[in-house]
Amino acid sequence: MEQREWEPVTGARLIGFAVGFGLLLLLIFRSEPGFVFMLDHANLLFHEAGHPMIGLFSSRLETYGGTIGQLVFPCVLAVSFWRKGQTVGFAAGCIWFFESWFNIARYLADARALELPLLGGGDHDWNTILTRWGLLQYDTRIAAALRLIAWLGIATTCAWVVWRAWQDRRRPTAEPDFVTARSSR
Ligand SMILES: [Zn+2]
Repeated sequence: MEQREWEPVTGARLIGFAVGFGLLLLLIFRSEPGFVFMLDHANLLFHEAGHPMIGLFSSRLETYGGTIGQLVFPCVLAVSFWRKGQTVGFAAGCIWFFESWFNIARYLADARALELPLLGGGDHDWNTILTRWGLLQYDTRIAAALRLIAWLGIATTCAWVVWRAWQDRRRPTAEPDFVTARSSR
């Protein structure tokens, strides 16, 4: 496989990423659990768009369309940044993808309780899905597992950005010095 050329994580980019991520964390902890202002409004929009899109292909799969919809859009974003080798953009797409899981977990955890207000007032996606799968009694446990995976995904993405930044610090400056130091020895 060819080695992907990642855009260097300059100090400015790293600071931008850290500030953006800090703001997101603040939003996550200050928002109602699983519904981050703005970000989850966008997720909701993609969720609602996903139902009819998947519904075009299969009415049985339409129920899954919302969840697929809200995951596909951050994926498309992440893949487009990945193709361009844009490190911070790719990381942002990944973090959005995993943040969306918190929102999905919130909905999933409500499968038995049926307390969340539903946009459009239709069926409860996760009540339908988990009933279909015979997993309805595990709704809150599955949701907890999703949240854990989401945090792991976000932490891994951040660690990757820091690792890339560290790699970039080492490479361009250290190498020529190293070569001259060796040749003069
Ligand atoms: Zn839905």
